[in-house]
Amino acid sequence: MDTYMSLTAYGKNAQTALTDASRKINELERMLSTTIPDSEVAKLNETLHFRVSDETAALLRTSLQYTQSTDGAFDMTIAPIVNAWGITTDAPRVPDENEIAFLLNYVGSTHVHLDGNTVTLDAGSAVDLGGIAKGYASDCVAKIFASSGIASGCISLGGNVYVCGNKPDGKAWSVAIQDPQSNNYAATVALSDAFAVTSGGYQRYFTAENGTVYQHIIDPKTGYPVQSDLMSVTIIADNGTMADAYSTALYVMGEKGAVDFWRANADSFDMVLITADGRLLYTPNLQNKISEPEGASYDFQVIDR
Ligand code: ADP
Ligand code: MG
Repeated sequence: MDTYMSLTAYGKNAQTALTDASRKINELERMLSTTIPDSEVAKLNETLHFRVSDETAALLRTSLQYTQSTDGAFDMTIAPIVNAWGITTDAPRVPDENEIAFLLNYVGSTHVHLDGNTVTLDAGSAVDLGGIAKGYASDCVAKIFASSGIASGCISLGGNVYVCGNKPDGKAWSVAIQDPQSNNYAATVALSDAFAVTSGGYQRYFTAENGTVYQHIIDPKTGYPVQSDLMSVTIIADNGTMADAYSTALYVMGEKGAVDFWRANADSFDMVLITADGRLLYTPNLQNKISEPEGASYDFQVIDR
């Protein structure tokens, strides 16, 4: 998945659980990657008409649901635009306006047709599950931990964290939120049995010849990399897939959109936003869980309901 992963489990079945978990992650990558040529997603994009596994079909359906619930801010059909920019590739470039306008015609859920396990894409369209696959993989690992009887463990799949139970000493896990501007952390959150997923523009980006920095999350409405007033969005929830889709979507929405979205869906998740002007905003449920590191560089503020 083009990232670092770490998996830790404690207890009797820890070794088996970790072996099963890494096997599952690799299997998902071979199924869902856009860059592995014979993955289901790559074959679908290439042939436009492909019978996928139950699991891939379900994840495509889930992705379409999140496109609807985020009003298009999360959209896997952004793929043709992601490819045009190539921000995470060896050869990133700035497409011209006409090319972007042309490619935007192929973005949108109406271009995906799902009939059972048979998926058809309109010509010109493609899907990219990069904004949701790691979150989905973390849900799968959580299930493996549960069925193996793991009572304590934690995983991190490139910014997608899951903490299982408490630490072996019985205390909550302490999940660090990366400072987008340094190698330190901006805050820690005490969590047990939770997913914490961060999206931001600070890790994957490229700098064009004229000095403009383009990060890897695209606004599906414009086809341009988001110029967000946020530096990062962390979603904390009991569902890793949702947390991953929402972290990408709320980064696209920006501070105001993200706060409004949380107010409308406050039962389903908590969040931490780091704004470009140096504030760190968190939802009220986190009040007793969040800690500022010594010499904190952000102004911590709770978000009103
Ligand atoms: P990361 O992959 O760094 O964890 P995200 O979960 O935010 O970050 O996913 C970003 C990836 O999702 C991009 O690299 C791209 O492949 C894809 N993507 C970019 N913009 C969007 C979008 N608006 N909706 C869905 N996927 C997107
Ligand atoms: Mg995401």
